[in-house]
Amino acid sequence: MKVWIDQDLCTGDGLCEEIAPAVFTLLDDGLAYVKEDDKVLNEPGGAEGMAAVPSDLEDAVVEAAEECPGECIFVEKA
Ligand code: SF4
Repeated sequence: MKVWIDQDLCTGDGLCEEIAPAVFTLLDDGLAYVKEDDKVLNEPGGAEGMAAVPSDLEDAVVEAAEECPGECIFVEKA
């Protein structure tokens, strides 16, 4: 499973980071980005900053995508 965030739609509420802090993080710009192996994929973000999700975190990532008020977390099932 892979995941990315469309930062143009992110409201910066931080819900994703609360649900899955190993995968999502808020940066100083007030927007959420995905992480892969603790590396933040913010240059660039968006669809080009797509992170592989460890299998034990897949449920949390799906929950975050469902709860995200901006509907801007995109999960791609591989
Ligand atoms: S839950 Fe969605 S809108 Fe909220 S910070 Fe995360 S990506 Fe942004």
